[in-house]
Amino acid sequence: MSASLEIQNNLAIIKINHPPVNGLGHASRAAISEHLALAESDPIVTAILLTGTGKAFSGGADIKEFGTDKTYAEPSLPTLLEQLDRISKPVIAVINGVCMGGGLELALACHYRVTTSGIAFALPEVKLGLLPGAGGTQRLPRLLSMEMCATMISSGQVTLSDQLADSALFNLFEIAPKELMKSASEFAQQVASIRPLPRVRDLPVHQPKSEDFFVIARAGLMKRSKNFPAPFACLGALEASMTQDFDEGIKTERKLFQQLLQSDESKALRHIFMAERAAGKIVGVEADTPLRQILSVAVIGAGTMGAGIAMNFASAGIPVQILDLQAASLEKGLQKIRDTYQSAVTKKKLTQEQCDQRCKLVQGVDSYTAIANADLVIEAVFEDIQVKQSVFVQLDQVMKAGAILASNTSTLDVNQIANFTKRPQDVIGLHFFSPANIMELLEIVRGAQTANDVLATCFALAKKIKKTAVVAGVCDGFIGNRMLEQYTKQATFLLEEGCSPQQVDQAIENFGFAMGPFRMSDLAGNDISWAIRKRRLTANPDAIYSKLGDLLCEQGRFGQKTQAGWYDYQPNGRSAYPSELVVQMIRQHSHDMAIPQRDISDAEIVQRLVLALANEGRKILREGIAARSSDIDIVYLKGYGFPLHRGGPMFYADHLGWDTVDELIAQFAAGHQGQTWLV
Ligand code: NAD
Repeated sequence: MSASLEIQNNLAIIKINHPPVNGLGHASRAAISEHLALAESDPIVTAILLTGTGKAFSGGADIKEFGTDKTYAEPSLPTLLEQLDRISKPVIAVINGVCMGGGLELALACHYRVTTSGIAFALPEVKLGLLPGAGGTQRLPRLLSMEMCATMISSGQVTLSDQLADSALFNLFEIAPKELMKSASEFAQQVASIRPLPRVRDLPVHQPKSEDFFVIARAGLMKRSKNFPAPFACLGALEASMTQDFDEGIKTERKLFQQLLQSDESKALRHIFMAERAAGKIVGVEADTPLRQILSVAVIGAGTMGAGIAMNFASAGIPVQILDLQAASLEKGLQKIRDTYQSAVTKKKLTQEQCDQRCKLVQGVDSYTAIANADLVIEAVFEDIQVKQSVFVQLDQVMKAGAILASNTSTLDVNQIANFTKRPQDVIGLHFFSPANIMELLEIVRGAQTANDVLATCFALAKKIKKTAVVAGVCDGFIGNRMLEQYTKQATFLLEEGCSPQQVDQAIENFGFAMGPFRMSDLAGNDISWAIRKRRLTANPDAIYSKLGDLLCEQGRFGQKTQAGWYDYQPNGRSAYPSELVVQMIRQHSHDMAIPQRDISDAEIVQRLVLALANEGRKILREGIAARSSDIDIVYLKGYGFPLHRGGPMFYADHLGWDTVDELIAQFAAGHQGQTWLV
């Protein structure tokens, strides 16, 4: 059973037992309900203690039952809480560990709550675009200040029990975790005969300190969460706790919950939640695959990526060596690392001691023999297959047996790189994104011969360095950059047809992207994509693309770093100003190419850009480069600023319906450079 019942003296102890976090799935709810009824009817029992087994009280809803009929099967959580409202004996929640979501709502419906130090409390439903739907928004403000409730419920953030120790949420706060059960039992004996039973629902609501509280809170949300209705609905439900009686408030809460459940934003967030969990499972690799030990790392190349990559390991406490061909580049890379950590101290994100510890973990070296014993080596040298070859041949000669040899290449063939060595099973792609110490995404590129334990080890390591990893197969650009190429192509074709860079950027930014394609390219450096285009054109001279990016670079307009790109920039400034020169260049080019000009709506801009991603994503999926459609969404959400509330390009297309997508693609295919949609 998912909960046990034990009678000790005159106390009934119900323990939720549903690993890993005592989720309130159907079996747990049924078992708790049954045990409550048994304890209530047992004449020996004077009070009931409700607690959790292991490290959790309850983490709330059972994720495995998400979206299934079991979520609402009786006894539902609201039904179980109504049982607690009616029960004739005192129920004491003994909160021994994580208490979240439905778990906290369960505790709130008990007559008393007892806890200890270091316990995490949260109502995180808002993170899935929902609100606590089992009374959380009505009971919590009867125990905590409205300010605290608004923070907890509309942000979903975790609050430690110690921060709430003096609040009315707890009837007893036992400082020593080991003494919790003993203290709770003594407390239960003391309150066993108290009648009427104190119910949170009968208490008055704490009013906010300021009359304008909800106005100010909503204005704050407008800045942070404008695309998400859930945080606003959370405030609405909290406001109802003040203006309505408990039963009416509960009805309002349920109505809002049902509305949110149907919202596109919540569907997108729930999709992302499940997608993240799915991405953690590597197809064809058993979850219990033995891992290789990674206690030390080496990075080859101390440039933009190498320095950033190295910081990930130092920040995770793993010693990292950096090797560069050029002494000056090595020193520059090491200095960048020191400066980045030092600036985190200035911003109070690190202590000086942490900064010093991290810097100490980074060591510059000048020979391959110095790194021979590293467990993992990541190559981040120039994007040139001959340079990669020379590096991997040397790594093959010096690295100890069993070391993992990784490449951070963005576009080159990982299988070819693997074959530069006599140990292709140990070779893998670890594609970090820039800035590598900050960006959350890591594409793990599985070569044809990459060993399963190498994949599994890199996945586990990704978690350790706080990256979200997605497995990609070998192809030019892997998942993310391959799709980006189609997106960028459409963006420049739109310019050729009459749009300005700011019109395209604005349209996609209004859709929710943090940055449009032209502002983004100016930030990353237009010369980088120029170099990639040149290489691709050598390999495929018939490739269809707009020459506008090349014309831009031929004028030295590389982006922010040259204060001129698709936009103009002020010295040291990041604000983009429309450039008359660029507009002239575009118009001249379109005229020279005799491209008909037309007015293009923002809706068409968005659809052409987003469906270019989805269309390429579909090919990637068909070719097996990505294992799941949701993996592609994770790549775009975590690595390319795709708006969270849209759920990712594949989710967007699924939602639109692929038949509609194909109809739109057929229309676009009949337009300017339409054949790019069909290849
Ligand atoms: P970079 O030019 O900033 O740095 C490359 C470094 O490698 C330089 O310091 C250079 O001195 C060193 N180097 C060159 N040949 C070497 C050799 N044989 N041995 C040792 N050191 C050598 O380049 P980057 O932007 O850091 O890119 C590095 C790799 O990462 C490339 O494969 C690139 O495609 C990939 N990448 C780049 C980005 C990005 O946004 N910059 C993103 C993802 C992946």
